[in-house]
Amino acid sequence: MLYRQQTLETPHGTVETPVLFPVRNIGKRSTDNTPQYTDAVPDLQTAMVNTRAIRQRESQWHRLLDGSTIRGEMGASPDTVVFADSGGYGFQTDEVDTTPERILEAQQELDADILGTVDRPLSRNNRDAENQHRISESTEYALAASDHHDGEELLFASVHGLDPETVRNNINYLENHGDFDGYALGSLVPVRTDYEKVIRLVLAARRTTEKHLHVYGLGGLVYQPLLLYLGVDSFDSTAFIRSAANRNYLIPGFGGQELSTVTDLAYLPCSCPVCCDTPLSELREDRDALTKHNLWALTIELRRFRYMVTAGKDIETYLDLRFQGNEVTQRAYQAAKQQVRRFV
Ligand SMILES: [Zn+2]
Repeated sequence: MLYRQQTLETPHGTVETPVLFPVRNIGKRSTDNTPQYTDAVPDLQTAMVNTRAIRQRESQWHRLLDGSTIRGEMGASPDTVVFADSGGYGFQTDEVDTTPERILEAQQELDADILGTVDRPLSRNNRDAENQHRISESTEYALAASDHHDGEELLFASVHGLDPETVRNNINYLENHGDFDGYALGSLVPVRTDYEKVIRLVLAARRTTEKHLHVYGLGGLVYQPLLLYLGVDSFDSTAFIRSAANRNYLIPGFGGQELSTVTDLAYLPCSCPVCCDTPLSELREDRDALTKHNLWALTIELRRFRYMVTAGKDIETYLDLRFQGNEVTQRAYQAAKQQVRRFV
């Protein structure tokens, strides 16, 4: 097993990894905003924000320049550890409208702890040459950020590749030419249903560097245990927000369930503070409450994995059970197991 626990020192505090960075939507249409959670969930003093999106919202940006803080804007505790990604996801379709230097300055203005370098995600629909060009651009942007960075924050190079060799070569090149505290693997969301591919790419990264490894965008209920098993140190997720928008109730160890199909139930199958206080009829109507429950579900999934490790349980047996309910993810886990066994 490649699972590992480490501590990550950041300007706003120490984080025990592996850890989830919930995506914080702030200042968008109010229904898309992430509700406050750092007071409620003690092991989730983390957040991921989109630097480009915040930079583009003039009124919010001016408030920040005038002395308000990003943690204050989020209603989060002052020692929340913030991972500011560049917002590169928007560059999948849009032209790059910024520079590595400008994003780095904005990330520092946000007082973020972890800075993700500007990147251009790949698409399977692109021609190979276009994807190749994007990979080179992301590498150049990362090195430019490394040249300009001299702060206390941690700098994570965003890495892309649709085959293991490209991922390996990229990380080696960045390691030899830049100065990074970790690597963040991207472009996996578009291929997320191809579990075996994702597993090969993640393992390629994990095999190439001992530094912190973050995986962008795949921190949902199904991927989380797989990524933990592969030794990923952190991940981020919007799954709890998206699921709530679709009135999906996440169940740790299982998956999502549309609440509209559940009627006439006295007690919910979860003992998080939300489910203790909120009857099903209310939860169905209260998107914020459902979002919070879903975040608890992701947290409990991670706690459960940690518990199994700490209790000395055989993790492969646990994951055999964890994935047995779904043929597709069970196959994915079997593939991961084979690849990991070859690796260790
Ligand atoms: Zn709950």
